[in-house]
Amino acid sequence: MRFASTRNPSLQADFREAVLTGLAPDGGLYHPIEQPDLHSLFLGLNPDSPFVETAVTVVERLFGDSFGADTDDVVRRAFPFSPKLAPLNDQIDILELFHGPSCAFKDFGASFLASAMETFLADSDDRAVILTATSGDTGSAVAQAFHNRPNIEVVILYPSGRVSRLQEQQLTTVGDNVIALEVAGSFDDCQRLVKEAFVDSELRSAVCLTSANSINIGRLLPQALYYIYAFQLLRARMISEFYFCVPSGNFGNLTAGILAWSWGLPVSGFVAATNVNDVVPDYLRTGIYSPRPSIQTVANAMDVGDPSNFERLLAIFDADHDALSSLVSGVVVTDEQIRTTMREVHEDRGLLIDPHTAAGVFGAQTFLAEEGAGDATIVTLATAHPAKFVEVVEQACGVTPPLPQALATALERQKHSVPIAADGTALKQYLLEHYGSHD
Ligand SMILES: *Cc1c(COP(=O)(O)O)cnc(C)c1O
Repeated sequence: MRFASTRNPSLQADFREAVLTGLAPDGGLYHPIEQPDLHSLFLGLNPDSPFVETAVTVVERLFGDSFGADTDDVVRRAFPFSPKLAPLNDQIDILELFHGPSCAFKDFGASFLASAMETFLADSDDRAVILTATSGDTGSAVAQAFHNRPNIEVVILYPSGRVSRLQEQQLTTVGDNVIALEVAGSFDDCQRLVKEAFVDSELRSAVCLTSANSINIGRLLPQALYYIYAFQLLRARMISEFYFCVPSGNFGNLTAGILAWSWGLPVSGFVAATNVNDVVPDYLRTGIYSPRPSIQTVANAMDVGDPSNFERLLAIFDADHDALSSLVSGVVVTDEQIRTTMREVHEDRGLLIDPHTAAGVFGAQTFLAEEGAGDATIVTLATAHPAKFVEVVEQACGVTPPLPQALATALERQKHSVPIAADGTALKQYLLEHYGSHD
């Protein structure tokens, strides 16, 4: 599989280069040039295969040429955890994606990316430094995924005092090759510092910087795997007509599902559920894309006013609004609707769901009510464990979700962070001092 920049089709790269550089040199996103036809591979999947076996089969077809004999290793190392499909009611199923080390779906992309980079760097003397800014969730998935990978150092910037205690513990207690820089500033400051570092040529020639943000194609593509796995499980239940509903913010998750569709997955359509940050549902309705500053909501991992993967979504459809909007329906969900859905699901089913998943469930219900999807099944992606958003869950449902072991352990450990000013010079100095080459 080869990749090209979304801004210039002649700027091309193989998977290794796309993964190790993150962003194309012109600032565009790497995107597959051709979509392979995997339809018959999908239909031939063994209904009893565990997730990791299905993942090996698909990755072999997609990137076997990049990994060679290491393909099996890359995939098995990446996925010691698996998605689970659980029915919510007659028509809605929940695809639980929170059984990984940080208890959110971002574990799938981060873990595969880490495993791929480990293999790509195995025979080189290069030491890559992953530099990433986080508002909470991405950083914890990245910290867990890259912990103790040889030849890789991780530097995470997070805004001091502006992430939840649980998120901070997840970021700052991993240790070893994972350093948390506690920035005296906002998340925007953190992002600005990272961007500045990436365009600083002196810094880049001394330190091998790379990115683990969701713009990295190596984080996005593996997310297609759980859509394929869900199809395998539905097929075993004789379900032939189905949709996916995806709680969306930066739209990486939805883009991965649509890639699976473009490779021949026989899904009838997608529902993109957003909170009140509704630029994409707006675009789907009107054909006009107007990014705006984000608004804070109870589903804060989806508070995005200018989703970075929108460029990729358009690339899949050659910017054809009609084609995109006939496959994807948007549903906008308010905080009140999120809370009500959490309470109802708990009262009716005894099930606790996190606010992002609740946006998805509301989206699925709305789609069923308004679009007349017949007796099709809607698979809603559960993007985080409810214990990650304990305050919102307690408020809406009046109960405290039990803490999974991974989160309980993080809470008990000692925090280690390096305080740093929200200033490019301070970050540059830190990176040169700790990771600069000495030749
Ligand atoms: C990141 C995140 C989302 C949004 O996913 P995108 O790929 O950015 O659309 C939804 N829910 C949770 C819990 C997240 O962490």
